[in-house]
Amino acid sequence: MKPRTVGVKPVRANIGIEMQLYRALREITDQMVAEVERKLNPPVNSLANDASFAEIMNILADLRNRWRSIWDARARPLAARALKEAYAQGDAAYQRALRQHGISVKFTKTPEIEAALGTQLQKSVAMITAVPEYLFEHIERQATKAVETGGVKEFQTWLKSEIPGVGRRRARIIANHQVSAANAQVTATRTAGLGLMCEWRHSRGAFKTRPRPTHVKLDKTLFDPSVGAFDSDPAVSAYIQPGSLINCKCVAIPRLPTTLAR
Ligand SMILES: [Zn+2]
Repeated sequence: MKPRTVGVKPVRANIGIEMQLYRALREITDQMVAEVERKLNPPVNSLANDASFAEIMNILADLRNRWRSIWDARARPLAARALKEAYAQGDAAYQRALRQHGISVKFTKTPEIEAALGTQLQKSVAMITAVPEYLFEHIERQATKAVETGGVKEFQTWLKSEIPGVGRRRARIIANHQVSAANAQVTATRTAGLGLMCEWRHSRGAFKTRPRPTHVKLDKTLFDPSVGAFDSDPAVSAYIQPGSLINCKCVAIPRLPTTLAR
């Protein structure tokens, strides 16, 4: 007979850490965007011939290289700090949730946690250092279009009105995703360490975005947190933790056998 279990309050990603990372990323993004606008203004104003278009592409290539090394230098310390804090907050919240069931644990640095943190740091750094590529590709695409259609004025307007938002949205997505994924990973690793199973709980989240059908299907199913649950979406097709994909607000509910709970 299956043991009766009770759900432990899920650990949610810490908004404060997310905002802190977002602000840091936004600051670099804003500086980068401001410089692009400043340097592109004169050649765009004279974008009447192919020569100035070539000049624009050269300026963009130079800026891309320069900002690539700036992001490369900033990514690791920023990601490491956010992850460390997310792991510490996750542990603390999990300990509090378990205490509500009369269980007192003190999470320590285990090899599993070190490994999870290391993997996550690599992923985070990769995502942050990809920001300049993302933005410059966007700008180059639009510049090419402007030359083809002769919409130079539109390009300039677009650069001023759209690109700051594109940069900031990217910063927000990265901050949200990284803190959420860190939270999912630390709680999964701790839950597996305690030998407990998890229940997937689907959530549409605050933005009420279109739910992933595979996550709706996973709702209330049990999974082993050391493995994750299988997301059969062809674009994912992997074992994942709830909350580990971009914009996924699903959470893991650890199931505690009633024989252990108070
Ligand atoms: Zn989800």
